[in-house]
Amino acid sequence: MKKVFDLIVIGAGSGGIATARRAASYGASVAIIESSRLGGTCVNVGCVPKKVMWNAATLAHGLNMAADYGFKISREGLDWPLMKKRRDAYITRLNDIYQRNLNLDDIKIFHGHGRFIDSRHIEIAGNDKIQPIEGKHILIATGGRPTLPDIPGAELGITSDSFFELEQLPKRVVVVGAGYIAVELAGVLNNLGSGVTMALRKEVFLRRFDASLREGLMDEMLNAGVNILSSTQISCVEKQNDDLLQIVTSHDQKLKDIDCLIWAIGRTSNTDAIGLDKAGLQTTDNGFIDTDAQQNTAVDGIYAVGDITGRDALTPVAIAAGRQLAERLFNNKPDAKLDYDNIPSVVFSHPPIGTVGMTEDEARERFGDVRVYQSRYTNMLHSLSDDKKKSSVKLITAGAKEKVVGIHVIGEGADEMMQGFAVAIKMGACKSDLDNTVAIHPTASEELVLLR
Ligand SMILES: Cc1cc2nc3c(=O)[nH]c(=O)nc-3n(C[C@H](O)[C@H](O)[C@H](O)COP(=O)(O)OP(=O)(O)OC[C@H]3O[C@@H](n4cnc5c(N)ncnc54)[C@H](O)[C@@H]3O)c2cc1C
Repeated sequence: MKKVFDLIVIGAGSGGIATARRAASYGASVAIIESSRLGGTCVNVGCVPKKVMWNAATLAHGLNMAADYGFKISREGLDWPLMKKRRDAYITRLNDIYQRNLNLDDIKIFHGHGRFIDSRHIEIAGNDKIQPIEGKHILIATGGRPTLPDIPGAELGITSDSFFELEQLPKRVVVVGAGYIAVELAGVLNNLGSGVTMALRKEVFLRRFDASLREGLMDEMLNAGVNILSSTQISCVEKQNDDLLQIVTSHDQKLKDIDCLIWAIGRTSNTDAIGLDKAGLQTTDNGFIDTDAQQNTAVDGIYAVGDITGRDALTPVAIAAGRQLAERLFNNKPDAKLDYDNIPSVVFSHPPIGTVGMTEDEARERFGDVRVYQSRYTNMLHSLSDDKKKSSVKLITAGAKEKVVGIHVIGEGADEMMQGFAVAIKMGACKSDLDNTVAIHPTASEELVLLR
């Protein structure tokens, strides 16, 4: 068996697979090591199953609204086990596609836990039959895992990973956390019919997002019946006699009869058990691996991409950084690197959020001359309903030419709207470019080219 490879990749998630395949396309000999399922977080316990659940929850919302349009629908309710079975089968199909693609690209797959034994050699731990392998280049793309708090009874809760193992829709749920994963899971469960309480450590959620988004979402979630406990920490979790949970908060409030507690309080990098010290590497205080603009670590020939770098923890970011790295190492493009500015993203909340560029606060701090255009409107989808949900768009410009430096949208369609506007921002669009673009009517997107 081959023991020396041009590139060894530890972790077959978004970043690892993208780098491996791009490198192999240029003729590099590549090995990839994966301790769990191919595809990593995104495919197995992240973006993909989450979006399926968001779709289900959006359908449920649509069914609720159908009567307003005159449909006579009797809602039989959701067959959760059937949905889960179909969702899991879809994920398995994706796992198989990854396996097939890696095989087609002649990439050697090692199943096991990769660990440095020095800066050039990796052992596949737990598998004595495989001798350590040597890499001329080594990429660390080991991602992260959900964090559990250190409080009594924490293990009685689940994480976003085990959320996807739930066999039934929980009746009474507490979601602890204030990031996008917390609001997404809370929104999904609320729309599917669970009673949902969110516990936020601080006053608000989505703290790094523009205020218009977090305030808009807070209003909509409260209107939709989500119970939001601000400035609340969880002190302990206990099992009741009937196996349900009692959750005690820092205000000594007791949340009783809870059948599902979800910790969504952040993620821990998978850098603790990969022998970094043997490679001569250290992590930052937060457990990340520091890289320069070209994904180089402090040790020559060792690189890192994706969530473990502590940069924007998103699948397309890991993929794009990995592909640029492969271009540099194996396609003779010495300057190749990912531009981390203006990365667009979507929060699959209910309603969804689309965002790119700076928040208003960031723009005001950075530029003297900032203008903000904003509109709040009711999406036509709700025109026949009593429940007039509010959407909003916000455009932030800077300088005399009014260069667009931020766009933030919350409301139906925000998820599909943002990619095109992100291209415009990346190209340096100014407010006048949006003004000169004819609207598409009637859509939510037109709000962004009609702002005055
Ligand atoms: C619930 C949830 C929803 C999300 N939704 C979105 C979304 O909608 N859009 C979006 O862009 N991003 C989303 N993300 C984030 C996205 O999943 C990550 O940013 C992305 O997966 C990071 O890719 P990565 O390659 O860095 O790591 P990962 O995809 O996490 O892959 C790392 C892989 O390395 C493996 N591994 C770890 N240690 C070892 C080892 N020592 N040896 C061998 N293998 C190892 C792991 O098993 C894993 O398969 C979501 C994440 C979560 C948790």
